[in-house]
Amino acid sequence: MLAAVLKDFDKLVLEEVPTPEPGMNEVVVRVRACGFCATDYKAIKGIRRNVTFPFIAGHEPAGVVAKVGIGVSNVKEGDEVICQPSGYCGLCMHCRAGNTHYCTHAFTTGGDGPTDVRPGAFAEYMKTDAKCLLPKPASLSFDAAALTEPLSGAWKGVIQYSEMKVGDDVVILGVGGIGLLCLLVAKAAGAGHLIAVDPSAHAREHALRLGATAAVDPGEGRTKERIYRILPHGPDLVVEAAGPIEAVRLMADLRRRGTRWNVFGITTHETFKLDGGLTHFLEARMDASFGTTPLAMQKAIRLMERGLVDPEAIVTHRFPLAEIHNAVVVMGRPDRNKVIVNP
Ligand SMILES: [Zn+2]
Ligand SMILES: [Zn+2]
Repeated sequence: MLAAVLKDFDKLVLEEVPTPEPGMNEVVVRVRACGFCATDYKAIKGIRRNVTFPFIAGHEPAGVVAKVGIGVSNVKEGDEVICQPSGYCGLCMHCRAGNTHYCTHAFTTGGDGPTDVRPGAFAEYMKTDAKCLLPKPASLSFDAAALTEPLSGAWKGVIQYSEMKVGDDVVILGVGGIGLLCLLVAKAAGAGHLIAVDPSAHAREHALRLGATAAVDPGEGRTKERIYRILPHGPDLVVEAAGPIEAVRLMADLRRRGTRWNVFGITTHETFKLDGGLTHFLEARMDASFGTTPLAMQKAIRLMERGLVDPEAIVTHRFPLAEIHNAVVVMGRPDRNKVIVNP
């Protein structure tokens, strides 16, 4: 099969590799679409260094079951499926509590986080555990289905963890792919004011088209002042979906009494300061959210199937696997949003 194999940082090679064979309770999926996540881009470019070579990235896949191993009963050959990229044992303390993303035996197919990293979906075929597969509704395109994982992360952060309520005034810092999905979820959940903050004019315009009620460029300075001009009482919820530490610092600065704030986008290890007494008297509740769970995956599928969120609204580029190098170039440009690879 054809696969995009990362041999070293900045050395992504398209080559023929053996098609995986399913072991017990495993399934091989013919990948039809896979989202290109910033995590993949960071691995390819060496922005994150926790990569063991050779590596096949791509952790947002949807496709068709090609072959099932012994013991698989939930899917059969020909079924259209969505793949949860984080594998889990289902038996440990965390899994039994529903927090499969804390699983002590976790693995990822093409992603980041667990130490057990298996080949991902920038390839014609991928292999995973049968329990990582969810049925794809026939009404959903493969491209939409490929966005289930990031959409599920947005639902988990905004709704499940930060408990956004109808009418809440919400600020989203960073409206790249995941930030726009947070915005779509917040819109669907009945946000009042919905303010997008992003230095990219393209991203701000995209956010306004998708339902943001205002957009703010942090590059112009006095960001807090300008947000408070729109929201004199301050935000009910701030979601940092940006990545840079400056966004986390801005989020802490945006708090008023009772604001909920979610450390959602940053994955690097810079620090920020909090005033102890101020934090005490603000009672601003901090949440953080990473990864996904089977519950969140199912919620995301429901949101798409019922037409509450159209994830394809954030797709700006599509590339066949053979043109993945063009996809990498586009990932580095400010005028892109979600990029899809179709192996
Ligand atoms: Zn991702
Ligand atoms: Zn577990």
